[in-house]
Amino acid sequence: MKKITLYNSLTHKKELFVPLDEELVTMYSCGPTVYDTVHIGNLRAFIMADTLQRALRLVGGYELRWVMNITDIDDKMITRAQEKYANDSPEAGLAKLAQEYEAKFLQDLSAVGVDLDEIAAFPHATDYIEKMQKLIQKLYDQELAYVADGSIYFSLDAYTKQGGSYGVLAHIAEVAQARIDDQDQKQGAGDFALWKAQKPGEPHWDFELNGENYPGRPGWHIECSAMSTDLLGKEFDIHTGGVDLKFPHHENEIAQCGGTLARYWVHNEHLMVDESKMAKSVGNFVKLEAISYPLAFRLMTLSAHYRSQMDFSKAGLEAAHARVVRLREWASKIVNNPQAGTSAKMPQLVKDFDAALADDLNTPQALAVLAAIESTAARTEDVYAFLLHADEVLGLHIFEVMDRVRSYEGVEEILARREVARNDQDYALSDELRDKLRELGVGVEDTPDGQIVWQLF
Ligand SMILES: [Zn+2]
Repeated sequence: MKKITLYNSLTHKKELFVPLDEELVTMYSCGPTVYDTVHIGNLRAFIMADTLQRALRLVGGYELRWVMNITDIDDKMITRAQEKYANDSPEAGLAKLAQEYEAKFLQDLSAVGVDLDEIAAFPHATDYIEKMQKLIQKLYDQELAYVADGSIYFSLDAYTKQGGSYGVLAHIAEVAQARIDDQDQKQGAGDFALWKAQKPGEPHWDFELNGENYPGRPGWHIECSAMSTDLLGKEFDIHTGGVDLKFPHHENEIAQCGGTLARYWVHNEHLMVDESKMAKSVGNFVKLEAISYPLAFRLMTLSAHYRSQMDFSKAGLEAAHARVVRLREWASKIVNNPQAGTSAKMPQLVKDFDAALADDLNTPQALAVLAAIESTAARTEDVYAFLLHADEVLGLHIFEVMDRVRSYEGVEEILARREVARNDQDYALSDELRDKLRELGVGVEDTPDGQIVWQLF
C-alpha cells in the first residue's frame, strides 16, 4: 500500500494524506443542482472525484465512505420548475423536475465510468430541511446570524469578530466576480443567505425561530454543511469540487461550521473551450449526450492533470476514442489469446504506475506508464494482472464490453458464418463479414484459437 500525497487548497501545498481514521477515509463531493442536464465541464469534477476514490482504495489500500449531495432546491430549481411545470403546485413541480434530472445525472455519471456503488449516500437538500434549520438556529443563537426582510443571513462581520477566519481557500481576484454570480449573496455586503423568505408561487417550508414563523427555503451553502457533517462527522477527511466552488461556496461551508470541516480540500480546474471556461452562463457548454464516446471523454480528462485547465476539442476526443478502442482490442487479446512467460520490465512499471497516482493523482503520468506497456502489446499473465489493475483504477471499463459485444444482435451469427468462410478459405466473404461486424461496432481478429472481438464504439 502506498502513501498518497494530495494538493490541499487549505494550505496551498502538496501534503502527505493522513486520514483521521487510519483505515476509513471520509470524502464529500459537492453534487449537481438537478435543474438541467449537467455539462461535461461539471462531469470532469465527478470523474476526478471518482478517480481519487479509486486511487485511495486500490493504490492507498483505504476503505472509503463517499457522499455526494443532490441540490433539489435553489433559485435555478424554482425558476425552471415554474417554467416547465406551470400547472403543478410549486412543491409538485419541484419534485418532478428534480426526479427527471437526477435520473439523467446518474445515467451520465455511470456512462463516464463513475462507480455509483462506491457512493455511500446521495443526500437530498429537501430531506435535510430540519437539520439545516437546526444548524441555522445554532448560528442564530451564537449571534452569527440575523433576520432581515423575512430571510436569515450569516453575518461575516460577527464571524470575524468572534475570531473566525474567512478566505483561506480563495484568491482575492476571484472574490468580486464570484460574489456577483452567487444567488445567495446579500446585496452590498459579504453576508449570505442561510434561509430565504418565500416569494409568491414558490415552494416553502415553515421555520419557527424565536417564536416567529419564517416561511421559506434554505440557501445553497448551508445544505453542504448540514449534510457533510451529518453523514461524515463534524470533521472529515476530503472535500472535492471544481475550483469555481472555492469561493464563496466552500468558504461559506467552512464558516457555517465554525471554521472546521474537511481537512483536505481537493479542487479540479476548468474544462476550457476555445480558451473560455465551459459554463452555462457563457453558452459554450457541451452535454454528455452530444458526446458519442463517454468513456473516451473520461480518458481524455485523465490525460490532463486535474489541477490543470484542459481544452476540450473534437480532435482530442477522437484521439482518446482511438486509444480506448486499442485498449479494448489489447484486453480482448490478453484474455482470449494469452502468451506464456512473464515480462522482465513489469515489476518496475507496476510500481511506477501506482507511484504516479499516489503523487497527487498524476493521471497523465500513469497513462504514460500504461502507454509504455501498451506499445509492447505483450499478453503475458503479469501484463494481464497489471492491465486489470490499471483499468480498475482509471475506470475505463475496457474488459467489461467484451462479453457485451458478443450479445449484440446478429454478431454471433456473423462470426459463425465467418468461421465457415475461413475454413473454406473464402477470404473475400470473410472480409465482407468483417466489414459487416465493423458496421455493428465490432472489431475482429483471427487467432489460432478462433476469432477475437472487441467493441469499436
Ligand atoms: Zn457543496
